[in-house]
Amino acid sequence: MRRINTRELDREITAQPPKVTRQLLNRIYLYLKPYRLQVGLSILVILFASLLGVLPSMLTGRIIDEGFIGGNFTKLVTLIAASFLVLILTGLVGLLQSYLGSWLSQNIGKDMRNHMYGHLQKLSQGFYSSGKQGEIITRMTSDISGVQSFVTGTLTQTIANLATLTTSMIAMFQLNGALAIVAILIVPLLIFPIKLVGKKRWELTNESQDLNDEANELLNETLSVSGQQLVKLFTKEEAEYARYSSINENLTTVKIKEATVGRWFRMIAQTFVEAGPMFIYLVGGFMLLVNNHQGLTVGDITVLVALMSRMYRPLMQLMDIHIEFIRSLALFTRIFDYLDMPVEIENKPNATLPTDITGDLRFNNVTFHYTEQSPILKGINFQVNEGETLAIVGPSGAGKSTIFNLIPRLYDVTGGEIKMGGHDIRDLDLHFLRQNIGMVTQETYLFNASIRDNLLYAKSDATEEELIQACKEANIHTFISNLPDGYDTEVGNRGIKLSGGEKQRLSIARVFLKDPKILILDEATSSLDSLSEGLIQEALSSLLKNKTSLVIAHRLSTIMSADKILVLEDGKEVERGTHQQLLQNDGMYKLMYDTQFKPYLNEERTLVSA
Ligand code: ATP
Repeated sequence: MRRINTRELDREITAQPPKVTRQLLNRIYLYLKPYRLQVGLSILVILFASLLGVLPSMLTGRIIDEGFIGGNFTKLVTLIAASFLVLILTGLVGLLQSYLGSWLSQNIGKDMRNHMYGHLQKLSQGFYSSGKQGEIITRMTSDISGVQSFVTGTLTQTIANLATLTTSMIAMFQLNGALAIVAILIVPLLIFPIKLVGKKRWELTNESQDLNDEANELLNETLSVSGQQLVKLFTKEEAEYARYSSINENLTTVKIKEATVGRWFRMIAQTFVEAGPMFIYLVGGFMLLVNNHQGLTVGDITVLVALMSRMYRPLMQLMDIHIEFIRSLALFTRIFDYLDMPVEIENKPNATLPTDITGDLRFNNVTFHYTEQSPILKGINFQVNEGETLAIVGPSGAGKSTIFNLIPRLYDVTGGEIKMGGHDIRDLDLHFLRQNIGMVTQETYLFNASIRDNLLYAKSDATEEELIQACKEANIHTFISNLPDGYDTEVGNRGIKLSGGEKQRLSIARVFLKDPKILILDEATSSLDSLSEGLIQEALSSLLKNKTSLVIAHRLSTIMSADKILVLEDGKEVERGTHQQLLQNDGMYKLMYDTQFKPYLNEERTLVSA
């Protein structure tokens, strides 16, 4: 489980403290609400454990007074047996308490993770392309774990600490009011110096960790291949050495201070904690021996000392509780900020779910921008009738992939409309729309699973025959059959165990299985060996057959076999027509033909015949 970086969190809190609002607390409560019975039970167990915690000291007092001083051996044995039982019971209640705590925190964590994952699935492609992957994983893992430890740690500890303090104080007053007041006043006074030194120690630990981070960053930067190259080429060896040795010097000083203060801390803590009983012995002794206090016994004084010792830890922890609360609220706020990110692309409430649809596709004056200041598509109009192929060509950055992203609504148009089978795609049921669109991109993404599972991702109920048929059409069946594990072969992380060409053919098989109405194909620019290319080309042309297709074409053969060609430049259509018409136009297409396509003409011929 990833752990929260508390220093980073504290810095964030200092810069922007979380606002404690009723709304925030209500939202947190909503996660606890389904488990309120268990929360109640957990609190009862904690209270019971605190009550039990008082008993051993009380019994010790009676062992001294009634057993030893009273000289009653039978009573002594009975009281010892009772203490033993209390010990066992305390252990068992402790187990129950920790089981309930983990059960609650794990279930709350599970709900939050499910909620977050469900929400993340709905966020648009724009959110993912903003490169926040590290942050998303942190929210999903360490932030939610931080909140979980708040439930098991801070929350239960606070209740337990309050209960321990209350039960100890009540028990003390029961024994002797005057001594109870002395103990209750003395404990905070003794804790104060321990806290002061503790704070100094904490500051030094932070300082040394910061310096450590700084040193590590410098090592990472300068001792990497490229880092070293840069240092050498700019002759910065001495400067970097000076920087490193200065950090090292500071680190040494801080570490020595940290160790010294640490020793002081332990010494002060030990002295002050152990000095506590002396005060009780002194005041108790005075009352018992000088003042002849009636009703106070040696056993009572022993019990009071034991009860007093129970108060140190809870009191110290409660003194820091506000920090833990603020940290947890900050974590909740970070998580809620993510959950509040708007879902930009979603189903309309009355989305149309046709029983069937034609594969006609129409762009009507479509405009689009990723960011308002830079328009990408500036009024695109075209129509592709069912079964036709439209090839889109144009220089890099013209907006070809952007057009593709708009069709399955990975992004929504910012102006105009896209129609499929006569329906504005924003009115169609989103699942229906995406089910009817197949996309083959240059980058093939496969999951770390078997070939079969990767294929079934396209159609979970596909039969074995359908899988084989799709793979045959994608020219990959023979390859798969020759593998020792056949369709059950694991493809490795992102399909690492397959070659680029095999991955592409597998992704084509996936689209065959999906059998969409509209096909979007971003033809690969990277060249593979001619046999592999030939197999892919063959698979693609059988995939394109009888389907409405849009192709970002890089190969002349694909372009020439298209029904129409759209030439795009800077988000605008500059030419449109067939290959022959466009060559005669002597415009952008002719230029691209002469510089990009013609030189590879012979190579493609070889490929097609391969
Ligand atoms: P190529 O042939 O190089 O793939 P393209 O014609 O497909 O180019 P697009 O990928 O559609 O071009 O990009 C068009 C413009 O939009 C480019 O200027 C690009 O930088 C910008 N762009 C693409 N994706 C994003 C994004 N997610 N956020 C912001 N700008 C983007």
